[in-house]
Amino acid sequence: MPQLHFLILSFPAQGHINPAIQFAKRLVRTGSHVTFVTSVSAHRRMTNTVTLDGLTYTSFSDGYDDGFKPGDNLLHYMAEIKRHGSQALMDISVAATNEHRPVTFIVYNFLLPWVADLARDLQVPSSLLWIQPASVLNIYYYYFNGYGDFVDKNISNPSFSMELPGLPLLTSKDLPSFFLPTNPQPHTLSLFKELIVTLEKETKARVLVNSFEALEGEALRAIDKFNMVAIGPLIPSAFLDGKDPSDTSFGGDMSFFSSRDYYMEWLNQKPDASVVYVSFGTTSRLSKKQVREIAGGLLESRRPFLWVLRPAPEENDKEEGDVVENMEELKQEGMVIPWCSQVEVLCHRSIGCFVTHCGWNSTLEGLVAGVPMVTFPQWSDQATNAKLIRDVWQTGLRLEVNEAQLVEGDELKRSIEIVMEGGRGEQMRGNAKRWKDLAREAVMDGGSSDKNLNAFVDDVRLLDSPVCGVERILDSASAKT
Ligand code: UDP
Repeated sequence: MPQLHFLILSFPAQGHINPAIQFAKRLVRTGSHVTFVTSVSAHRRMTNTVTLDGLTYTSFSDGYDDGFKPGDNLLHYMAEIKRHGSQALMDISVAATNEHRPVTFIVYNFLLPWVADLARDLQVPSSLLWIQPASVLNIYYYYFNGYGDFVDKNISNPSFSMELPGLPLLTSKDLPSFFLPTNPQPHTLSLFKELIVTLEKETKARVLVNSFEALEGEALRAIDKFNMVAIGPLIPSAFLDGKDPSDTSFGGDMSFFSSRDYYMEWLNQKPDASVVYVSFGTTSRLSKKQVREIAGGLLESRRPFLWVLRPAPEENDKEEGDVVENMEELKQEGMVIPWCSQVEVLCHRSIGCFVTHCGWNSTLEGLVAGVPMVTFPQWSDQATNAKLIRDVWQTGLRLEVNEAQLVEGDELKRSIEIVMEGGRGEQMRGNAKRWKDLAREAVMDGGSSDKNLNAFVDDVRLLDSPVCGVERILDSASAKT
């Protein structure tokens, strides 16, 4: 049987690359070959890439080789990544055909919807790898299919709420930030519209979702027009199914920022479930005032904490100490570092709670680790994820902001106490343990995500030979010469 060749194209952001790499590793384990493609800037950050037989990395210049920076024009960037990425995809496909290893299937993540059209031109089948919850895809889908006017007209009304198939009752606080009148990136919604329109061009488009049946069963079936297939959680094997104990990191991380031994050693000395882990992901930036409140709340809570805190990119020359005034005092009670291998930290026995911005990867990592969460969503899908954590999966609570939109130190301290002590905290910890077990079941041999992944690969095997479009390009190229 010829070996399948998947080409995975990932948007160059950490939260997009991590699940895409994990998906690549899963495909390699089915005996397939995977070419993983992202931009030069992201590829340079991937200092810790996994080497696996069957996994090849390739990068292309998106015109922003030093990375996209705050202040850069997003629309220009999206046009450039499309222009350069399309050419790269064609070149890679042609080269693969020439090398007698034609690309059999293309997988792309969500800010790259043009890949589907290009794949169609190349006559290579493709699927979206959706790296947020199925629930959030439903919200976008229904917004662009009948609910848009209702949302736009009513969202500023304090009593606004909305019921959608497969989802809990949502208020404006629970919706992706791009719907809110305060959204500073008005054109972002058009990217989601483009994605939905692209998917609707196909009959029953298959969408691979980084989620699992037990977690989002109803949401996964809430759009008749799509075939959402849960293949997650996409987390390194060592922390999930244990099929590959050496698979302990995403391989696309920024571990050069801090030494792993340093913080893991520190965690080793702490009692079970005693440490508060605090991280707001790779893209959110908190105001100085907010950072100060968090520092105060952590000190007041009188528990050991591990806080991932980096200066904003425009302040990169600053030391951590410049980010908060009382760094010395903080370091006596806890540890403040610019980066850690988060999934490893969350799964350490000493972690008692996760103060999180609720990026979908962080949310899944918290669920897999079985750790209760104190949520502080910042933007994009994070508010919806926080809603699911608090009200549906019941493994955490959401921090409340004051009139100045700040979470006060006292609020953080109070919330940490709730999740780490008895009563409600005990219930949340019990629920967290249940989700941890269900996540593992999903990816074990014969589990729902394992079966879905194998069925997907079997389906790809049955597809007609996909080389025709690429051969057409090769023919027209040779006709020109
Ligand atoms: N991450 C990490 N160490 C850090 C911060 C983040 O390993 O210090 C990883 C985290 O485990 C997750 C990803 O970076 O896999 C962040 O993705 P997420 O969707 O949670 O948030 P985003 O950064 O996209 O807002």
